[in-house]
Amino acid sequence: MFMTKNVIKNLLCKSATRMYPAVTREPFAGFRGMLENAIDVCIFCKKCQLSCPSQCIKVDLKARTWECDPFACVYCGVCVDVCPVASLSMRATYRPVTAEREMIFMQGPPKAVKAKAGEKKEEKKEEE
Ligand code: SF4
Ligand code: SF4
Repeated sequence: MFMTKNVIKNLLCKSATRMYPAVTREPFAGFRGMLENAIDVCIFCKKCQLSCPSQCIKVDLKARTWECDPFACVYCGVCVDVCPVASLSMRATYRPVTAEREMIFMQGPPKAVKAKAGEKKEEKKEEE
């Protein structure tokens, strides 16, 4: 009897889910939809790579590249918290639907000829 009551109730009430991606929910405060990297600001320190619980970030200091697998990312926001220059952020928007596994690949600008002392230290650490 309890079950029948629930079935009837579920049949008559509004659906609890949405027809995503045609219908999306309005992002709420603190919504972590998309991971973004302002590559011009990134110093390729690898802190995000080392702290990522999913190990989905790959940073190459020499090549000045930053890569992320959005399908392995769990959108925990740890990388955003540890980034020393705040180049990482979470955009409150939905990632486009896709049928293919595409990596987020970003190429940083060429290194300035005269690097700052702080950057030199980072590089030295990286080479060790
Ligand atoms: S922690 Fe920030 S600055 Fe360091 S490699 Fe990651 S995105 Fe770049
Ligand atoms: S949000 Fe979390 S899982 Fe995704 S890349 Fe950052 S640290 Fe890794």
